[in-house]
Amino acid sequence: MQKNMLEALRSIVQEVNDADELQSVLDLTVARVQATMGTEVCSIYLREPTLNRHIFSATEGLNKDFVNRISMAFDEGLVGQVAQREEPINLEHAEAHPKFLFMPGIGEERFSSFLGVPIIHQREVLGVLVVQQQERRRFDEDEEAFLVTVSAQLAGIIAHAQATGAIAPLEPGKERTNRARFKGVAGAVGIAIGHAVVASIPADLHSVPNRQCDDVERELAFFHECLEAVRQQMQDVAGKLASRLAPEEQALFDVYLRMLDDNALASEVDEAIRQGEWAQGAWSRVIRKHIRTFNAMEDAYLKERASDVKDLGRRVLAYLQIANTGPVDYPERTILVGDDLTASMLGEVPPEKLVGLVSVRGSKNSHVAILARSMGIPTVMGATDLPFIKLEGSEIIVDGYNGHVYFNPTPELLQRFQVIWEEEKQFAKGLEQLRDLPCVTTDGHRLPLWVNTGLHADIRRSLDRGAEGVGLYRTEVPFLLRERFPSEEEQRKIYREQLEAFAPRHVTMRTLDIGGDKSLSYFPIEEDNPFLGWRGIRVTLDHPEIFLVQVRAMMKANAGLNNLRILLPMISSVPELEEALELIYRAHDELVEELGFELELPVVGVMVEVPAAVYQARQFARRVDFLSVGSNDLTQYLLAVDRNNARVAELYQSFHPAVLHALQKVADDCHAEQKPVSICGEMAGNPATAVLVMAMGYDILSMSATNLPKVKSVIRNISLSQAQQWLQHTVTLESAAQVREYMEAGLIEAGSSHLVRPLIEEINAPAE
Ligand code: PEP
Ligand code: MG
Repeated sequence: MQKNMLEALRSIVQEVNDADELQSVLDLTVARVQATMGTEVCSIYLREPTLNRHIFSATEGLNKDFVNRISMAFDEGLVGQVAQREEPINLEHAEAHPKFLFMPGIGEERFSSFLGVPIIHQREVLGVLVVQQQERRRFDEDEEAFLVTVSAQLAGIIAHAQATGAIAPLEPGKERTNRARFKGVAGAVGIAIGHAVVASIPADLHSVPNRQCDDVERELAFFHECLEAVRQQMQDVAGKLASRLAPEEQALFDVYLRMLDDNALASEVDEAIRQGEWAQGAWSRVIRKHIRTFNAMEDAYLKERASDVKDLGRRVLAYLQIANTGPVDYPERTILVGDDLTASMLGEVPPEKLVGLVSVRGSKNSHVAILARSMGIPTVMGATDLPFIKLEGSEIIVDGYNGHVYFNPTPELLQRFQVIWEEEKQFAKGLEQLRDLPCVTTDGHRLPLWVNTGLHADIRRSLDRGAEGVGLYRTEVPFLLRERFPSEEEQRKIYREQLEAFAPRHVTMRTLDIGGDKSLSYFPIEEDNPFLGWRGIRVTLDHPEIFLVQVRAMMKANAGLNNLRILLPMISSVPELEEALELIYRAHDELVEELGFELELPVVGVMVEVPAAVYQARQFARRVDFLSVGSNDLTQYLLAVDRNNARVAELYQSFHPAVLHALQKVADDCHAEQKPVSICGEMAGNPATAVLVMAMGYDILSMSATNLPKVKSVIRNISLSQAQQWLQHTVTLESAAQVREYMEAGLIEAGSSHLVRPLIEEINAPAE
C-alpha cells in the first residue's frame, strides 16, 4: 500500500475511534473512505443478527433517505455473497453478476464497478463495506488492500460501538428496554447476580466509571476546588524549581498553568456536571476529547500538545480521586468489573460483598482468575467488547460457566439464573459431606488430594473441604498484596501460619514466582515478552538476597513442625537447578550455625513448567525429592498460547494430545528415578483431566479448594482400571476436542454428569 494511503488509514482509524456512537462511526467511515479512495460511493451494510439480514446502514454517494430503512436477507445480493464467502468481491460490471440484486430507490443503477469486503470481528461477520464507481473498471490491488485493511481495523471499533449502543443510557422518564449479552471466557464457574462496581486504575483517564452526581452545585464547587489546588501545587513546584529548571522546562509549567487558567476546559466540564455527570467522569471525557483533537492534527508541534493535555488531565484526575476517597459504598452483591482486574483490586472489596468478577482483558489462566477460583467467585475474563465504564451501578448477571455477562436482564432471565443459583447451593451442600471421606477409587486406589493456596482465606476453605496437604503455596500472593518486600521476620510469620494450620500435613512452598503477568508494584519488570523473560527462578537467582531471605524464613518457620516442602518454579536447566539447590543448602548451613541447633533440611522439588523440563525430568528428579507439574505454564509454552490472551483462549487446550503426552512422559521419567510426581496446575482440578492424570500414575493432585470436592466425588465414583482404559484410548485420539468429548461422555455414563458439564447448558438468551 502506498504511504499516503497508510497515513490516511491511520487518521481514519483515529477519527473513527473517537466517535461516540455507532451511527457516527459508520457515517465517518463511509465519508472518509470515499474521500480517500476517490470513489463515488462508499456504503456499509451491517448484519442484524436477530433478523439475519443486512441493513443498509450508512452511505456516501447513494440515497441517504434509505439508510436504516432497507435491508436484504443474509445471503442476498452481492453483499450477501461477500458476507457468506468471507472474502472480497471485485467486479467491473456488477449488474452482470448473477447474484446482483436491484434495490429500487437507493440509486445504485448508475454504478458499474463494485468492490465489497467483509467486516469480520472474532470470526463473526459484522457486515460488508462496499465502494462503487460509474466507470467500468476493476479496482486495483492497492485499492483492494486498502479497503481490506480499513475493514479489519474498523471491525473492533464497530463491534465496540455496537456493544456500547446496546447499553446506551436511558432517556429520562423512559423505561429501560435495551438488554445485552457480552461474551468472554469462563474464568471461574458459578452464577453471580448483582450490581457492577467499576474498578478504576488511579489516574487512568480511560477507566473512570460513568456516574451521576447527586448535588450539582456541590460537585461544581468540588471540581473548582480541586482545579485550584492543582494550580497552586504547580505554581509552588515551578517556583521552587525556578532556579534549577532550563527555560524550556519552565515553559512546560507555563503551558500547564495556561491550560488550567484558560476557561475553555473548565467550562466544558462545568457544563457536563450541570447535566448531572460527576466531576471525575466529566473531566476524563473532556480531556480525552482534547487529546484526540490534538492527536489528529497534522502539525507536529500541536500533536505534541496531546501529551501535555494528557499529563495535565491525569494530574487533575488523580487529585479528584484522592480528594474523593471516602469509604466506597459497595452494594450488598458487588460484581467488580474492570479493564484488567488485578489481585490487589479484589482485596479492596469487602469479601462478604464480592460475588462476581468481570475483566475485559485476561483469560482463564490469568492469575486473577486462578485466585477467583480459589475463592469460589464466579468470573468472566476476556470480555473484550464490554464497555465496562458504562456499567457502574447496573444490574448484571455473571455466567461463569459459559463466560457470559448479561446486562439489564429480563425478569424471566433473572429468574432462570436464580433457580440455577439455588440449585448450585444445594449441590455444594451435598458435596460438603465428602469432606472426611478418603479419595479412593471403587477398586481401592488411594489418591491424595491437596490444595493450592495463596490468600490467608484459603486456609479455612481448604481445611473445610478436606485438603490432605498443600501442593502449591504461591508465596508471591502475600508479596503482591504489600507495598514493599516483606522482611525475613514478616515472611517467617506468614509461612508459620500456613505450616501450623496444616501440620502435620505437608505444605509445599514455592519460592517467589514473579514476572510474567505477576509484577510487584514495588519491583516492576517491564519487558516486551514477559512470559519468555525474567520470571520465576530467573529473577531470584539474579537476586540471591531475595531468595536467601525467603528460604531462611521458610526454614525458620518450619522449626519443630517439619512439614515444609520447597518448590522451585520455572527451572529450565540443570545448572539453574544446581545453583538454586546450592543456595538452599547454604541458607540451611548458615541458619544452623546461627541458631546453634539442628534444623531439618526440607524436602525440595522442581516444577515442570517449561518444555525443556519435560525432556530433562530424569536429570531433575535425580537431584531432588519430587517433581510437580505446573500444567498452566506447561500448556502455554507447549502450545505457544499466551495464558492471558482472550483472543487465543480457545487454543489453550488442556486436552491437547501434546500436553497429555508430555504429562505421561514426566510421570514415567520421574518414577523411573523412584521419585514421586504431583500436578498442581488447573488440570488437577478439572474432573476429566484429573481422572486422566490419575491413570497416568500421578501420586498427588493439587488444586483449588473450590474444585477439590468435585474431583473427589468423580474419583470415588470410578475405578482405576476404568480410568486406565480411558487413558489408553485417548492416546489414540488426535485432537483436544476428541479427547474432551470422549472423556466427558465416559464420565457422564459413569454417573458424574453434573460435575462434568456445568449445571447449566448454555442459556441462549436473546440479546434484545
Ligand atoms: C502452573 O504454571 O501450572 C502453576 C501451578 O503455576 P502458576 O499458575 O502460579 O504459574
Ligand atoms: Mg506457573
